[in-house]
Amino acid sequence: MNFEKNYRELDSSYYMPAFSRDMMLVRGSGSTVIDAEGNKYLDFVAGIAVCSTGHCHPTVVKAIQEQAAELIHCSNLYYVPHQGMLAKRLVEKTGLKKAFFSNSGAEANEAAIKLARVRTGKTDFVACEDGFHGRTMASLSCTHKPAIREPFLPLNPRCSFVPYGDAEAIRKAITKETAGVFVEPVQGEAGIIIPPKGYLREVREICDETDTLLILDEVQTGMGRTGKWFAYQHEEILPDIVSIAKGIASGFPMGAIVARDDLEFSKSEHGSTFAGGPLACAAANATLDVIDEVLPSVSKKGELIKKVLSEHNPRVIGLMVGITIGDACPQVLQSCKEQGLLVNCAAHGNLRLIPPLVISEEEIKSGCGVIDAAIRAVR
Ligand SMILES: *Cc1c(COP(=O)(O)O)cnc(C)c1O
Repeated sequence: MNFEKNYRELDSSYYMPAFSRDMMLVRGSGSTVIDAEGNKYLDFVAGIAVCSTGHCHPTVVKAIQEQAAELIHCSNLYYVPHQGMLAKRLVEKTGLKKAFFSNSGAEANEAAIKLARVRTGKTDFVACEDGFHGRTMASLSCTHKPAIREPFLPLNPRCSFVPYGDAEAIRKAITKETAGVFVEPVQGEAGIIIPPKGYLREVREICDETDTLLILDEVQTGMGRTGKWFAYQHEEILPDIVSIAKGIASGFPMGAIVARDDLEFSKSEHGSTFAGGPLACAAANATLDVIDEVLPSVSKKGELIKKVLSEHNPRVIGLMVGITIGDACPQVLQSCKEQGLLVNCAAHGNLRLIPPLVISEEEIKSGCGVIDAAIRAVR
């Protein structure tokens, strides 16, 4: 493995200090990663819910390698290999009508915002407190956290925020200028916050009654993460637009929106140089193949985590797990790391576990044992 020995120095001298980090991961396989010092870790972060098929899944590696040797890029001036097939598969999985690709989650939400505006002729949005929809300017307008949004005011579009899990608050916030409502079916960056049962169904009804588009941000919850292809399928509703990214292509940068019947971009209303390129679409199709196989096991694996960690009151849906720790969350993270396990602290001292969907029951038991001990040590 060839990497710079002085990566810390290079980073601090030449890279903008927007991140805080203390290790370099250089290799991965399945649910395991190895750092630059040769330490091995069980990975309950999975590149923030991105490496859905684990690290370097052979099916995904093969698809990328084969496509890289054929054609790396061609632009959307031409039909793109694998693109149409991926669109068809996403349409079938979502129950919606047409897809459009992007390079990230934020960009998928940008596309959703543009589509909602251009088709409704309205300008504003409603989103939820503690919600996260990305960091590009329009998606940032709908991302709540004041510390990351307020330095960039004024933002466009205008977005009003309501408490998460309260459907009636959404009704009250909708005005005649509201084009769409942005909701995460489970809040991810907030620390795996699961809304009351029936919430999405109520929001769906309110959007129907007020003629407002329901945009579900499934960037984190989608692609099998919650035990179904999309989290809204637990409540048997359909959004008007769903945005997808993180787990879609196993780490190859990609995002997508899929929209219902009459919601589509007309010629030149939207576009992108890289989006939906041959490598991304090849990686995504291979990822879908793998998720098709593992999806039936996801809920069962989540139940196992729930059982093993039950004393710590975990919030569990599929392989999304949140545990409220408080100020000691970084301490728990550190002691897990020392025991060879990577976990993540999301907002508000919430420990977040989002392992690869391919993780084994043995790995779950071993990781949860470490977590249990680490939490006990701070309580
Ligand atoms: C991560 C995330 C995004 C942003 O995705 P990027 O690829 O980082 O732009 C948007 N929405 C949700 C729910 C996310 O979890």
